[in-house]
Amino acid sequence: MKIFDELESEVRSYARSFPRVFNRACGEYLYDNDGTEYLDFLSGAGTLNYGHNNPLFKRALLEYIEADGITHGLDLHTLAKQHFLETLQAKILKPRNLDYQVQFTGPTGTNAVEAALKLARNITGRHNIISFTNGFHGVTLGALAATGNSHHRGAAGVALGGVTRMPYDGYLSNGFDTTAYLDKVLSDASSGVDKPAAAIVETVQGEGGINAASFEWLRALQEVCRRHDVLLIVDDIQAGCGRTGSYFSFEPVGIQPDIVTMSKSLSGYGLPMALVFMKSELDQWKPGEHNGTFRGNNHAFITATAAINHYWSDDKFAKDIARKGNIISSRLEQFVANYGDGNFTARGRGMFQGINCISGELASDISRRAFKKGLIIETSGADDQVIKLLCPLTITDEALGKGLDIIEESISEACRQFRRIPQEKDFFQSAEADPNGTHDNTEASKS
Ligand SMILES: *Cc1c(COP(=O)(O)O)cnc(C)c1O
Repeated sequence: MKIFDELESEVRSYARSFPRVFNRACGEYLYDNDGTEYLDFLSGAGTLNYGHNNPLFKRALLEYIEADGITHGLDLHTLAKQHFLETLQAKILKPRNLDYQVQFTGPTGTNAVEAALKLARNITGRHNIISFTNGFHGVTLGALAATGNSHHRGAAGVALGGVTRMPYDGYLSNGFDTTAYLDKVLSDASSGVDKPAAAIVETVQGEGGINAASFEWLRALQEVCRRHDVLLIVDDIQAGCGRTGSYFSFEPVGIQPDIVTMSKSLSGYGLPMALVFMKSELDQWKPGEHNGTFRGNNHAFITATAAINHYWSDDKFAKDIARKGNIISSRLEQFVANYGDGNFTARGRGMFQGINCISGELASDISRRAFKKGLIIETSGADDQVIKLLCPLTITDEALGKGLDIIEESISEACRQFRRIPQEKDFFQSAEADPNGTHDNTEASKS
């Protein structure tokens, strides 16, 4: 792998955790160039919800390429785009009573977020945006300003402005309603928080450590936004496309965001594609205001159409995600009970789940051990302390069971290696119990 060390920038990241040369992939499996098989519980960070090279989409794509279908089309009308829009309208938007216009942005998630923030600011004439602790929205400057992660923020090179951070659900302690705090600062003209254009939120924070907001909190957030005439943007780039169990992650919550961003698994095939949904009255763009050369990836339109047709024409797929989600959560609860020493927590929703191991070192050790056993699984969260399960939604029960077994073995081994299971601090409790901040969370200090 000399060429990668020699020529590729130091900025590479996932390749460091899984140092092999991969060559083929199919469904939930990846193969390196020695032919070794790996079960993929990373799935392109949530881009391969329907598996690698899904045969249904592959056939549609191959036929389209064979017939010299348009590959790149700027934002010209093409038959592939027409079919995608018709399918999206008939199978996704209409049945859900969603009156959204669709904007194709540049093909990355961060570009959809840029467009959404820009639109909200232009419509309202306000600059401030509310975003949440541990939120992740991408790494271009506008989206990065809304992102919490210090490692990513530190690379900006300029001041990241125009955003006020609020505590996400459960950030302070369970039972503290952080939307009440938001309501308070927006009601107080001297709170120091400028009246925002929008609030941007993930229903389940992916990169932030699989933090799932409660439905009540999300409903309360929408209510506060409406009360103060603030637009609600749901960033569904990772949580959408079925990951939490429904096409849009907010469906079972019963909210209707003003703006929604989608990307990652949208094309279904891992092809770059992103879009912004906005309520019709919010479509106040002037032609070409948010431009981009690659807004018309027609291969992505073909596979995205196939994905909707094959998986979202009825509720079979959603039911299957719920069923597998239950398998995952019951196993994770067992792992937590058996190995976590009372400190691990299982978290997430649908097939968007993880285990908080409190220690990033421990979680990374679990990930390394899993890789040696043929499972690709990553960590997320502020300290990479959360083992993040992102297997394809189409995974077979057998492969799912195998992956969960590998995770269990890896946790068991890693926990035996680590003498003490670290404990999480509750913000208020630890502040009370330990005013000097010298709280020692070790077994030794307990006894
Ligand atoms: C991945 C992600 C993004 C950024 O998408 P890119 O394609 O990496 O630019 C934005 N928001 C969320 C919630 C994401 O998970």
